[in-house]
Amino acid sequence: MNIAVIGTGYVGLVTGVCLAEIGNNVTCIDLDEAKISTLKVGISPIFEEGLEELLNKNMSLNRISFTNDYEEGLFGKDVIYIAVGTPQMADGSADLSYIESTCEAIGHHLSNDTIIVTKSTVPVGTNDYIKARIHQYLKRDLSIKIVSNPEFLKQGTAVYDTFHGDRIVIGSDDAQALEILEEINAPFHIPIIKTDLRSAEMIKYASNAFLATKISFINEMANLCEKVGANIDSVSRGIGMDTRIGSAFLNAGTGYGGSCFPKDTRAIISTGRSVGLHMQIIDSAVRVNEMQKGILVDKMIQQFGDLNGKKIALLGLSFKPNTDDMREAPSILVAEKLIKEGAIIQAYDPVSIENAKKVLPYQVNYKTSIQEAITNVDIAIILSEWDVRKTGHSPVLFMVREYPIICTLCHVPL
Ligand code: NAD
Repeated sequence: MNIAVIGTGYVGLVTGVCLAEIGNNVTCIDLDEAKISTLKVGISPIFEEGLEELLNKNMSLNRISFTNDYEEGLFGKDVIYIAVGTPQMADGSADLSYIESTCEAIGHHLSNDTIIVTKSTVPVGTNDYIKARIHQYLKRDLSIKIVSNPEFLKQGTAVYDTFHGDRIVIGSDDAQALEILEEINAPFHIPIIKTDLRSAEMIKYASNAFLATKISFINEMANLCEKVGANIDSVSRGIGMDTRIGSAFLNAGTGYGGSCFPKDTRAIISTGRSVGLHMQIIDSAVRVNEMQKGILVDKMIQQFGDLNGKKIALLGLSFKPNTDDMREAPSILVAEKLIKEGAIIQAYDPVSIENAKKVLPYQVNYKTSIQEAITNVDIAIILSEWDVRKTGHSPVLFMVREYPIICTLCHVPL
């Protein structure tokens, strides 16, 4: 198949590279000129295990190319995937301005009948809107079929997940489009769920809302365990072994962050509000999460008193291990609170320091190794459970064990 993928972020680039890997001819389009220039020379602008190797392999086989030019990128494509960002607006609803500009660009440059596949996470009803908008911009009469194909990859294991996902969801009101998408996805050998358009859109939000709720649930349990003398690790293990519950997403920690859970939970609350429904469970999950992010600093103040002038090491800055993504990372709030308390911060992360510099307070000092970060500090905080052995560095615990005070709410691999 000849495929275009619009947006070369965490989802678009992984999708494009993996579709090329299973034998398609793929052109990736992005407005960001710096990203496209980097990709053209085989360098991935994002950190994702195995991505750059697969990118280079498929570039050398001439199965994937990159462009900023919509006309060139869309020419003769059977299928066009949309994978642009859908961040949140101030009121919590999804910002669809990138989707809007994508529709306009597709409409202006499309020259043949095609199937549009939406990978971006969009509120229910958006795919109908996308189809209508593209039609408004078309210069001639073309047939457009639309499919919702929400993405479930996890940053950090995105390539692995694409080939080993639990399910692929494809939703459309057009039987022929569903058949073609089924054919494209067949080489992944993953169970495919076919639905109508709106159910596919909802599956994505419902999945993320459920997982976020699971995290807030276990964090609330952790806070209670601490008060009554129970051990949250044992409790998590004990309830997670119940197959009706499952052990995933039951690790207590500093709360969820990242580019999906925070915005998708708020967006589904906003969708509920728009139809007069208060999504009470999800609303509580969001509030528990907000509180959880600050709890580590509150505990430190309780334990150590005044933090003014204390030297503190922050280890692991990205919102979770194995990614360089700093979007809504708990480290942001923790660093801001510590600076406000007058602490001096030395921070280290194996891959996300450059991105961290853009969002953490300017007072944070960055170090190039764990050893450097924990030298002469009063307290070391492990914020995300990087297994640094994989990155060729020394294991975190081995190093910080030699220090008297270690604070962490997350699970560190031993
Ligand atoms: P991202 O911000 O990393 O990448 C988006 C890319 O789209 C950027 O490179 C940007 O330059 C490009 N772009 C924006 N407007 C464009 C346009 N008009 N034409 C061409 N390119 C354009 O975003 P992401 O994390 O890859 O997320 C993309 C979508 O996938 C979002 O809706 C997100 O909710 C969803 N999603 C993300 C993940 C994840 O783990 N990151 C997982 C599942 C679903």
